[in-house]
Amino acid sequence: MKIFSLLLAVAVAWSVYLYAQEKGETVMPVAEEAPKAMTKEEAAKLTDEEWRKRLTPEQYAILRKAGTERSWGKVYKEFKAQGGGTYYCAGCNAELFSSKEKFDSQCGWPSFYDPSKAKNVKTREDRSAFMVRTEVLCARCDGHLGHVFTGERFPAFNGEQTPTGQRYCINGTVLKFVPFAKEDGEAEKTEKKESKTKESDPAK
Ligand SMILES: [Zn+2]
Repeated sequence: MKIFSLLLAVAVAWSVYLYAQEKGETVMPVAEEAPKAMTKEEAAKLTDEEWRKRLTPEQYAILRKAGTERSWGKVYKEFKAQGGGTYYCAGCNAELFSSKEKFDSQCGWPSFYDPSKAKNVKTREDRSAFMVRTEVLCARCDGHLGHVFTGERFPAFNGEQTPTGQRYCINGTVLKFVPFAKEDGEAEKTEKKESKTKESDPAK
């Protein structure tokens, strides 16, 4: 009977833990306009304590301590559901990626085949976890973003490599999303409607 109670207590504690994880997970911030970016100098001046205050615990663990978010988590579900837009660094607001290079890699983390602003993204060799990988960092604030892998093939590209041969595997927790301006989409729709009207005119 004692063992049963103990097992029950463990099961309850585990479900509470999982629930808290899901609840506490950072949701990717969404803004209407491009956030104001820090300069490289401003970012370099920030102390570890200041970074800790500016960021959520999850963002801090990833950006400043090279952590990794849980795959297939809440932030990934949000990322997958997002339409066109630009992705900024949650640390310094530098532009990093765009939905134009976003693709479904089926790996559980946001994937891009190229940065949208190459000068804002840098890489370095990472020999942690008994592997040799290429770490991806924000060139502006030195924040850890994820890793980049090469030479892989994906169903999204009919079993071929991405156009660059690369997959930037990025933690969604450290990205800020700004959807492309609404007016662009609206203008496109209006144009299409107009051309349809013109096409149908001769038939009258
Ligand atoms: Zn940054």
